[in-house]
Amino acid sequence: MNSAMSTIKPPRRLCPAKIADVYEHRSIGDAQYLQMALESGLSGTSSIVDSYERKIASFYQVPYATAVSSGAAAVSVALAGVDWERGDEVIVPPSCPICTVLPILERGLRPVFCDVRRDQFGLDPELVKRTISARTRAIIEVPMWGYPTSIDELQLMAKSNGLPLILDLAHCHASRLKGQWLAQFGDIACFSTHDCKYLSTGEGGFVLTSSKDRAEKMRSYTRFGDLDGKQVGLNYKLGGLQAAIGLARFDELKQQLTIRLINHRRLMTRISNPHVRELPIVAGGEINGYALLLQAVKSDGRHLVEYLVEHGIPSDIHKYDNKPLYEYPILSGFRRSCQNAAELLRSLTTVPLHPGLSEEQLTYMADVINDYQPRFRHDEQQG
Ligand SMILES: *Cc1c(COP(=O)(O)O)cnc(C)c1O
Repeated sequence: MNSAMSTIKPPRRLCPAKIADVYEHRSIGDAQYLQMALESGLSGTSSIVDSYERKIASFYQVPYATAVSSGAAAVSVALAGVDWERGDEVIVPPSCPICTVLPILERGLRPVFCDVRRDQFGLDPELVKRTISARTRAIIEVPMWGYPTSIDELQLMAKSNGLPLILDLAHCHASRLKGQWLAQFGDIACFSTHDCKYLSTGEGGFVLTSSKDRAEKMRSYTRFGDLDGKQVGLNYKLGGLQAAIGLARFDELKQQLTIRLINHRRLMTRISNPHVRELPIVAGGEINGYALLLQAVKSDGRHLVEYLVEHGIPSDIHKYDNKPLYEYPILSGFRRSCQNAAELLRSLTTVPLHPGLSEEQLTYMADVINDYQPRFRHDEQQG
């Protein structure tokens, strides 16, 4: 661009049809599978739920899958797969949604916040090691918006300290690391299939493990401890109707992945603005295109969020106001300053990549991002 051109103010962009923040899942198989559910039974112990669980296990190549009623249920059920007593500790990053931490609190466990690595959502293994106490019983890793973290390194650290690693992969359906699904790492993986997630059954979730012992404990917990009166459990089973929808949509997961990755590439080849970058993807990581994580370079990310939202580009950061969890009243007693997590959340916005986006919308989003001028501190002082 020559200097004469750079003085020209960019034209005001015309926003094409409203950009949806979440993808309206519909599958051509929905009706057919719902009909199957009506025939096979609607309870959580009907054969269609077994079929859904077999499909999940076979897709992720993890031996044991249990379908549950929500992502929150999945976290709670995962905790049933490890040994602990009330008052014991679970290490978790403060950069995850509060949905991961409330089940920990609710079970009478203490969340212990540990910082992430710089510009990543992955826990820093060195810091985790220093955070482990005599009462630590598990570590929970929460990769966000489909971006893998270095789970393999965290897993080694967890193992050498004799601690189970739980992955909350609610955002990471079909994300990969070093050629494997993220769910193939760790001891237990939990997923949400809430309507705003990558795979939707309306409400729902599932847990995966390769340990028979953990699988039995978790499954039993989802059905009142097998009603034997020797152990506590609740009813966290997924119903037959939701399992039917899950079966239909699992068939289209790879198709959805392909479209989202094409949208990601289309956007990334068009974005050229030194003030923003994509959050770095860890070595060997493959994102799932749940959203593009755009990071403000050396400026305030919340200004970027506001700018994009003003231009009709929705942002999860705007919707949920993501901040370190110890900033919330209910978690303030667990505050442990985590500088990297705070800076990370303050620097980011999400940009949608879902299959509902048109070519025109993608072009518009790239143009708007390219027009972005950050606000630096001296701009504010000038008023
Ligand atoms: C959405 C979400 C949950 C909760 O899932 P629900 O199905 O809404 O209960 C838990 N953890 C993470 C990381 C999530 O994004």
